[in-house]
Amino acid sequence: MLARPIKNLIRELRKLPGVGEKTATRLALHILTAPPERAENLAHALTEVKERIVPCKECHQLTEDSPCAICASPRRDRTLLCIVEDQVSLISIENSGNFNGLYHVLGGRLSPMDGVGPSSLNIPDIKDRVRNLGVREVILATNPNVDGEATALYIKRLLEGTGAAVTRIARGVPMGGDLEYADSLTLGRAIDGRGTF
Ligand SMILES: [Zn+2]
Repeated sequence: MLARPIKNLIRELRKLPGVGEKTATRLALHILTAPPERAENLAHALTEVKERIVPCKECHQLTEDSPCAICASPRRDRTLLCIVEDQVSLISIENSGNFNGLYHVLGGRLSPMDGVGPSSLNIPDIKDRVRNLGVREVILATNPNVDGEATALYIKRLLEGTGAAVTRIARGVPMGGDLEYADSLTLGRAIDGRGTF
């Protein structure tokens, strides 16, 4: 029988993505047996991200400064806008090194079944951003699964009349997959080999 505080820790850890009962228990016991400063550092890091990190007012990625370093950089091509579902996809594409434009983080994907419509995501401001930046190409880099495709299609229609070309990453990214799990070389090729959408 586990003590209540341990059970409490396991329950909280289980809420993390990809963490089941076994992993949560192992992590909890690891934290328990580690030196006290390790647990304090972890607790401090958790509090700090929640206090210091804000969404960028332009691209909505999580950042310490708004606008973020990418949006503020004079070296980025402001006429190229890559639309991603989340921060994880942004980091994966950024790590591929094949993209030098700006990003727009949706904060999820459209999923009518789960009640996620355009206004629940960072979709309403895309059109204004495309117009204000004078974007010539929008790359739709939502995940290659049913909801990701539907989201891409919705945004493509939304951008009709803006004059921006709309492309979709394709080659090398497995259907039904998640950008998170694509290696950076594959993702880099997918960016280079994007096609009209
Ligand atoms: Zn930004």
